[in-house]
Amino acid sequence: MPESKYFAGLDIGGTTVKAVLVDQNDEPTSPPVEVRSLVKEGYRKTFTQLDEALDKLCAGHGIPRDAIAGVGLDVPAPSSNGVIWSRANLGDDWVGTDIRAGYSAHAGLPVFMTNDCNAAAVGEYALRKSCAGGLLLVAPGTGLGGGFVLPGGRCHEGANGLALELGHVPVPVREDDGSLPACSCGLHGCLEAWVSLMALRRRLGIELAKPEWADHPLNADPAPVEEKAFKIRDLADEGDALARRLFRQQAEILGRGLAGIVFAFDPGLVVIGGGLAEAGFRDEFLTWVREGFEAHTWPAYVHSPVEPGRETTRFEWAVGGDAAAAIGMACTARDLFGRI
Ligand SMILES: [Zn+2]
Repeated sequence: MPESKYFAGLDIGGTTVKAVLVDQNDEPTSPPVEVRSLVKEGYRKTFTQLDEALDKLCAGHGIPRDAIAGVGLDVPAPSSNGVIWSRANLGDDWVGTDIRAGYSAHAGLPVFMTNDCNAAAVGEYALRKSCAGGLLLVAPGTGLGGGFVLPGGRCHEGANGLALELGHVPVPVREDDGSLPACSCGLHGCLEAWVSLMALRRRLGIELAKPEWADHPLNADPAPVEEKAFKIRDLADEGDALARRLFRQQAEILGRGLAGIVFAFDPGLVVIGGGLAEAGFRDEFLTWVREGFEAHTWPAYVHSPVEPGRETTRFEWAVGGDAAAAIGMACTARDLFGRI
């Protein structure tokens, strides 16, 4: 084994695999490299893509492959201790297979594996360097993912690797007709059923049917509501009243849901990831989240009762972009395997 050891983070997404190396001080050695993702073609082909990513990293740094001492791997699907239990966007053969053990045997390296939101949460923690408490990540996207990093930088996975499925925490918010909205998971009233692209589509359909929006340009648009929903972010950036109302509702309910989660974890820092981190109206979105949060929590979770002016729960946008998960996994590999 060479003297300098490196640790790889491999972020398996639906379209690309992103890979980074960190050294023993958690310093990334270069920008991430990317290779094509073949997740739909099964895990064996994906292992080959992971090899390609590792080879690219080593070639880019002029280091031998055996300088890599461990790997952190994340997958875009719910998993429990290395085993994926829900298909999500992956090929069929992933489910029920011990991917962590399989890739460890394939690569001849110790491997840690978790889901992509846990990985991104650790990455956001690592990129900040100075998180005194914990860090809670929520990432609104097609669904709503979450992750929690304990002080020290390790993600909290729970006894079965199933912790922080934040999108499925219930919120007591009802539709205009008094019902609890259906979630993609089969339950009703989940936070994800209010804060996600899925929710935006449903709410857009409901709002467009109201007389007050009869003259809205989207009502003259022949596209299905699923496609119209993709236009809402740009419209909100332009100040469109309907689009802003939809995002304001999502933000306030997200804040309300976060209040319940902060009661449990007291993370100190809540980071919001996902695509909205790049939205032009993101400052307002964060203000709306805070309003929803503050209306449903106690003053001590907003400002310190003993240190005037100190915020006890801070809200920030994610800073790591789409490299956060790979960085988080590399840092976790260094943390777990760096002392071997
Ligand atoms: Zn759900």
